[in-house]
Amino acid sequence: MFGLTEARHTNVIEFELSEEQLQLQDTARRFAENEIMPVAASTDRIADPRQSYPKEVIRKGFELGFQSILVPEKYGGMGGTPLEYAILLEELAVGDIGMANAFHATITLTEMILKNGSEQQREKWLRPLCDDQSGAYLIGFGATEPSGGTEIFCPRPDPKLGTRTTAVKNGNHYIINGRKTYTSNASVSKLYGVLVRTDITKPNAESCSVFFFPADTPGFSIGRIEDKMGHRASMNGELIFESVKLPREYLLGEEGGGFDAIRRVYDSNGVGTGAMAVGVARAAYEVALGYAKERQVWGESLKSYQAIGNLLVDMRADIEMARLLVRRVAWQSSNHCSEGSIPPNMAKVYPAEMARRVTINALQVLGGAGYMKDYPTEKYVRDAMVLPIISGGNEALKYFMSRDL
Ligand SMILES: Cc1cc2nc3c(=O)[nH]c(=O)nc-3n(C[C@H](O)[C@H](O)[C@H](O)COP(=O)(O)OP(=O)(O)OC[C@H]3O[C@@H](n4cnc5c(N)ncnc54)[C@H](O)[C@@H]3O)c2cc1C
Repeated sequence: MFGLTEARHTNVIEFELSEEQLQLQDTARRFAENEIMPVAASTDRIADPRQSYPKEVIRKGFELGFQSILVPEKYGGMGGTPLEYAILLEELAVGDIGMANAFHATITLTEMILKNGSEQQREKWLRPLCDDQSGAYLIGFGATEPSGGTEIFCPRPDPKLGTRTTAVKNGNHYIINGRKTYTSNASVSKLYGVLVRTDITKPNAESCSVFFFPADTPGFSIGRIEDKMGHRASMNGELIFESVKLPREYLLGEEGGGFDAIRRVYDSNGVGTGAMAVGVARAAYEVALGYAKERQVWGESLKSYQAIGNLLVDMRADIEMARLLVRRVAWQSSNHCSEGSIPPNMAKVYPAEMARRVTINALQVLGGAGYMKDYPTEKYVRDAMVLPIISGGNEALKYFMSRDL
């Protein structure tokens, strides 16, 4: 396992990475080059989505301890900070964003358990994840339902609106019924989290709770695995709950505290998704820059023409700005000086839109070649298209941010 021995909490903003952070970046970069990139295109082209899970890549990432980057050393983790999380995810996403997402989902959920769970729950769920070298201990989280990913976060008081999956208390247990869709790491996780309604007579925002449970719990099953436009290395599917009996010890935090549990990981969600967006955009920019230098048109390189040169500069500036935003939120999170929901959500929203722009521009720089599968640019566009949709749709996040302005 790659060791991050010291916690680097500081109240000074430094733009230079420390020795250890540079070492982590180098490890992740070499991992992307040696393990991810050689299989990224072939994995993307596997037609059956049930066959496209990159088990070996995930296993090797677990050997390096990537899954435990935010888990403190006392539970066997790397004890890293959100900035190190951002560094790791950017590099993995340069290789393949779908593979990076398997780690992103898991790491954000370790943070959810850390910030909301009891000491027993942290020991029970995080230690085996840190010890796992097989890659089996991924975590998935089902919030989105067939009624919609935005609907489940309904802030309106009408109890009929919002999350439909229910958890009915029965002595020391809860009985869960319902269905979640699009869940990342579906079918390949050992542990799942789920957002449920524990009281359907109260407004959605006051009556949602989060449970974590093992994949082999009776009554729980996986439904269809989605056939997606991009992110093809990431498994997304349905979680089905048919009278699933969960003990009270599986409830994370307080009953009715589901939204608070999710709010406490806004930072990780923003930092992780934002860093992945920076990664895929950087990958596309680097291909476009290389091509623009090589390709000759009318006896000169494409790059020497102002329209293309300016486009490349805009792409580079866009990536740098998004990275700064992500790292600033990571820094705020480490220093416990959060300014509410706006910066973490911006760290998701802006890089997501930036990655769409930059990948489309990269494809344009390559012209027809960019549209062909010989180059990875068409894949980058498909992969980036989902970023404004996942981890909270950008429109919905902007709605919540505008309320907090
Ligand atoms: C690759 C991938 C991975 C995913 N992983 C997970 C996961 O691990 N766990 C999970 O729970 N979900 C996951 N999702 C689901 C994702 O979170 C939802 O797709 C997302 O929240 C949007 O929900 P929806 O698709 O149902 O769209 P809807 O909620 O139906 O919204 C449709 C569109 O309208 C916009 N919109 C919605 N409400 C408003 C409003 N009030 N004002 C303006 N615009 C609005 C939305 O932003 C969206 O663009 C994943 C999805 C994908 C594609």
